[in-house]
Amino acid sequence: RPLIDCVLKITSLDVYLSAEGYRLPQIDELRKALTRLRKETSHWHQEASTDQLTGLMRYNTLMETLDHHINMAHRGHDGRSGSPLCVAMIDLDFFKKINDTHGHVVGDFVLKHVAGRIQAAVRDFDMVGRFGGEEFVIIMTSTHLELAKVIAERIRKGVMETPLHLKELSIPVTISVGVAMLRPGERKETLIERADKAMYKAKEAGRNRVMLAKDTGDTGDLETLPEL
Ligand code: GH3
Ligand code: MG
Ligand code: MG
Repeated sequence: RPLIDCVLKITSLDVYLSAEGYRLPQIDELRKALTRLRKETSHWHQEASTDQLTGLMRYNTLMETLDHHINMAHRGHDGRSGSPLCVAMIDLDFFKKINDTHGHVVGDFVLKHVAGRIQAAVRDFDMVGRFGGEEFVIIMTSTHLELAKVIAERIRKGVMETPLHLKELSIPVTISVGVAMLRPGERKETLIERADKAMYKAKEAGRNRVMLAKDTGDTGDLETLPEL
């Protein structure tokens, strides 16, 4: 952020100098330095918001992005009515066993592989981030629960049907998914919590499945059973 502030200051200085019509020899240098700084800022901004292992959004960026889209969804496209938004919470099944059996390095490959499968199954405008160690979150804007379920199922199948091939190893992976749709006036914390609860229901029900958080009512912890 200090770097961004600095670039903004220099940018306005640059505009000011051009407007004043100064032709100092240092201006060219300043301009080159400014271009370099802009490139570096954008590079570091990218680095800071990306998870190194998976290439997905990091937790902080994911939460900022979710906040932003929740605000937009509450306002709605026309500024009056809300527009639907869903989140999916994904957790790898028995991932500890994969680590214990094949080692942490292979575990990391599995995480990277799953991140790739998730990205391959979502739509272009869905946003995917790494929520924690072996947990991922997807933000689906303009999406109702029924459609979010279809996308979550596509991800689940994509992961299940594509084991990770590593040298002579073929490592099967499955995921459990909880999906929740934003309620009127709801904040990200409870939305995430409801998706998380639904994901735990999926674990309890035997893993490798998608569960939906009920989108109406007060309890928020009732899920509909999916067809597998
Ligand atoms: P469940 O089906 O109930 O989710 O079982 P699980 O084994 O996946 O769940 P658990 O929470 O017991 O284990 C998660 C494991 O994920 C524990 C931790 O060592 C591992 N893990 C977390 N982050 C990373 C990471 O970045 N790399 C690797 N290799 N392992 C990680
Ligand atoms: Mg977990
Ligand atoms: Mg797990």
